[in-house]
This record gives sequence, structure tokens and C-alpha cells, in this order.
Amino acid sequence: MNSSVFTIYRRVRCKGSALLKGLCVLCGCGILSTAFWPQPAAAQQDRAELSPRIMLSASAVETGDTLLVQLDWRHMPTSVRDPIVSFGDQLIHMFPHPDETRRVYAGVIGIALSTRPGPAKIRVAWSVGTKQHASSAAFNIRQGTYGVETLRVDPRHVRPNPDDLERIRREQAELKEIYTSGSLARLWQDGFRVPVSGEMNGPFGTRRLFNGELQSQHSGVDFRAQTGDPIHTAGSGVVCLARDLFYSGNAVIIDHGAGVFTSYSHLSRMAVSVGQRVEKGAVIGLAGATGRATGPHLHWGAKVNNVSVNPLTLMRTINLLNVR
Ligand SMILES: [Zn+2]
Repeated sequence: MNSSVFTIYRRVRCKGSALLKGLCVLCGCGILSTAFWPQPAAAQQDRAELSPRIMLSASAVETGDTLLVQLDWRHMPTSVRDPIVSFGDQLIHMFPHPDETRRVYAGVIGIALSTRPGPAKIRVAWSVGTKQHASSAAFNIRQGTYGVETLRVDPRHVRPNPDDLERIRREQAELKEIYTSGSLARLWQDGFRVPVSGEMNGPFGTRRLFNGELQSQHSGVDFRAQTGDPIHTAGSGVVCLARDLFYSGNAVIIDHGAGVFTSYSHLSRMAVSVGQRVEKGAVIGLAGATGRATGPHLHWGAKVNNVSVNPLTLMRTINLLNVR
């Protein structure tokens, strides 16, 4: 494959004037490129031509799950350019497969809780010369089943005052910025682990009623912990937030690269600072009950391409790669 493929920043405006930004998926260099999906007729024609081999880790997933996609380009022409992998409007950060097979790449996809169940597709687009090509891999999305939980917390965390609301808006904007501007390269080396030794006592996706009036869906999993218990990072990466947040209390967020983040909330103490590189299992703080919490515990959250996913499922997906 021509190495110049990876050093080009190109913009292609589609007929609808929409612009899709993507990433170079073939080498993981993170060079921005763009492409548009071919019109249906062109895609139909392309199916008869040479396509990359697309492998998905499951044929069916639930909302809130993650999916591993692997792309094998080894049989494709070396003149392939501008490859883009996407699921809906989610652009997938691909990285070289950890077994270091040349021209085989992997990426993680997050299935949002709000995704409509039913047939779905991972789309791959690329170009050779001036011709656009596209292919896809189908899978099925099932609606997850979630329980309902009633919790009593500080009333201020259910009915925030105007100053709190301003703070919440500011923090939400900051979090969005963090979750959409992480490292493009994979930063984890040897898979993921659970962050604390306590048992899980709060599943992902539970519909929650706080003080009988505010309903939300649990965006992570809770682990039983005592104040002061050490909290470990699930995988290696870089600390991208370590401070007090209105709902999360003392929180640490780790950027694992390639669109993957994990968060650790309600800590009594934070033991890392922004920009610090951490290795899998490093102590990043101590368990506590800060923020919107009913008592000491760890809330473990995960995002993939800014989509909240079940961190336990993410851990299993990451570990499918058996990264060393
Ligand atoms: Zn929680």
C-alpha cells in the first residue's frame, strides 16, 4: 500500500453538502480524511468487486453493548485510499491489530442505550483512484432488559438550584469535549480488568427513580466498596480528568485511546493528575461517597466514541484481542 495514502488530508463534499470526517483506518496514524457514502446504485455495483473482509465479534448484541470489528485488507489493492468505518453517525477509530499482522485492523463500536433494536450494519467505504467503494457487515441489535430501582439521595442532586444547573451544563460541555478529543492511537497494552475487588451490586442500564421523582438510566455499573478501598484503572492509558463533578463527585477519567474511555466516580480521594500515564491496575484513587451517591461504592463508567456502554461488556470485548 502506498504510504502517501496516510499523509493526505482530503475533503470531499457529498451531494447533500454533508461532510463526514473520518480517520485513516489502515495504519492507525490518525491522519484525518473524509469520504461520503456512495449512492445506493454505486454500492450495489461495488458488491461484486473486491472488498475487505469484515469480521464482527458477535452477530447479535444488546443496547449498551460493545462490538469488535476487524478488517482484513491483505487481499486488496495497495492503492486503497481514504478508508472510513462507521456505524450510523459513529466513526470508528481503527488501529493496527495487536498481533501485528500487516493490513489487519481492529476497532471498538458502542451500541447506545437509545439505539433502535433491529437489523444494523457496519459500513466500510474506501476509494481506489477516483472510484468510491463501499461494503457492509450486518448484525442484530436486541433491546436490553433493565430493572427499576428507587434511591434516596441529597435533594439538591434531584432538584439542582440555578447555580448548580449552570455548573452541570458547564461540566457536561467539558465532558463532551474530553470524550470527543482523546488519543486516536490505542493506548492500552494488555487488556482490561475490573477496577475493584468488591462485588458488583448495581447493573448497567437500570432505570432509577431518585427521591421518587427523577428518572434516569444507570450509565455504568456499581461495585460494593468501603471508603478508602483502592480503585485501580481497568487498563493503561492517560488521565484526562481528575476533579470534583456535581453528580459524579471526585472523578477520574482515563483515555485508553482509539475512542475508548473509562471513568471512576464518587471517590474519597484522587491519586492521579491530568496528563499522567497510568498502567493497567495502577491505583488512581480511593473509594468514597462523593457526588450523587447513597453511600460508599464505585461507579465504573465507560464510553466508546462518546457513547455510554456497559464497562463489563467493554472489558470482554477489549480482551477478545488478547493484547500483549
Ligand atoms: Zn452507578
